[in-house]
Amino acid sequence: MGAGPVGSVAALACARLGHTVTLLEAQERIDDSPRASTTQPPTLEILAELGLIDEYIRVGLTARTFEFWDRPTLERIAVFDFDRLRGETDFPFVVQTEQHKLANMAIARLGDIANAEVAMGCPVSDLEQDENQVTVIAGERRFTADYVIGADGGRSTVRKCLGIEFEGYTWPERFLVITTKFDFAAALGCCFRNYMADPSEWTNLFKVAGDDLAGRWRAVFNTREDESDEEALSDAAVRARLGRVHVPEKDRNYLHLNLYNVHQRVAKSFRKGRVFLCGDAAHVNNPIGGLGLNSGIHEAWDLAGLLDQVLKGQADPVLLDSYERRRRPLNIEYVQEQTVANKKRLEEREPRERARRFDELRALAADPVRHKAFLMRASLLESARRAVRS
Ligand SMILES: Cc1cc2nc3c(=O)[nH]c(=O)nc-3n(C[C@H](O)[C@H](O)[C@H](O)COP(=O)(O)OP(=O)(O)OC[C@H]3O[C@@H](n4cnc5c(N)ncnc54)[C@H](O)[C@@H]3O)c2cc1C
Repeated sequence: MGAGPVGSVAALACARLGHTVTLLEAQERIDDSPRASTTQPPTLEILAELGLIDEYIRVGLTARTFEFWDRPTLERIAVFDFDRLRGETDFPFVVQTEQHKLANMAIARLGDIANAEVAMGCPVSDLEQDENQVTVIAGERRFTADYVIGADGGRSTVRKCLGIEFEGYTWPERFLVITTKFDFAAALGCCFRNYMADPSEWTNLFKVAGDDLAGRWRAVFNTREDESDEEALSDAAVRARLGRVHVPEKDRNYLHLNLYNVHQRVAKSFRKGRVFLCGDAAHVNNPIGGLGLNSGIHEAWDLAGLLDQVLKGQADPVLLDSYERRRRPLNIEYVQEQTVANKKRLEEREPRERARRFDELRALAADPVRHKAFLMRASLLESARRAVRS
């Protein structure tokens, strides 16, 4: 349920394994607002298994490195190179592909599979279950299924219907995404993924391909805690922010603005009976480090494999308990902890602690063993390998 990137990948994975799948999506078309783009190596491995990888790489941009900068001085502090992961994965790089492209790609593939149906414009309002089946209610329509995957995003109706608490907190500031054609790589000499620390306001810069593949940049900023949405979205404030990331006055034009609330929350449980939570329905986090969607896709893949074994009678349904037992702690340890640490690293105000953090990054980048260990964790490869062993 929910044809975002996680729901569509879950549906495609189940359909390719031969199961009858119905994907229900509230909206008439997939939301293309700028959210995830950074796709980590273990997620690329899954997309390869699903036969999507060539198209996915073709409509995105490949980024081998990411960089930390000190924004006020424009000093490059450290460069991390995914090529150090060669031998650990067939994909020692990230691919920056906008998440709506993945959802649309998976939905198109489902259209070619006889046992799959996609119902757009079908908002689910309730569900009922007994020990044999689940009934999903969407207006006048009712759908019955052996199992339901609730991948209906952070405000998940499924999670609410199941009465599952969404534990955690919401940050007081919001994140502003400015999409611009200004070429930061040419102007600053940075790469396609950059994290710029600044005690007064940080900026992250990412290049994406865009629907026209012509290339554009997303500049992500934190807002002030006391800044209203209206002020943050005002032309003057947006141009001032672009100025603070060294864009010359004549180039401070932009294509789109998006303002997001930011949370760190994990559902108390990832399953109730025959209904599972996956992706943002199960957990949300700040986007620094590009981990949220990636972890959701790992869950979708994992769950599809478990359901397949149970539905084909190859495993006892008790196997399904391993989903929450494995995925919830992995999300807390690898996604929640890392994204909070990433945010702190960018916003540190205390000068000595700031300098210490920069020194730590320089030391990590300079030491081949620690460099690789850092990337194993930051890319979620360590989490993916642990999931297989657990
Ligand atoms: C600025 C920003 C940048 C980000 N960057 C990254 C990144 O680089 N890498 C990364 O891994 N993550 C990133 N994220 C996080 C990422 O966007 C989310 O983790 C991702 O969207 C989760 O996908 P999902 O399919 O679980 O949920 P969603 O994308 O929210 O999709 C849920 C779907 O369910 C549908 N739906 C909702 N309610 C119902 C209902 N009642 N009935 C039927 N359908 C319903 C919705 O319409 C939607 O299509 C970023 C987030 C933001 C805000």
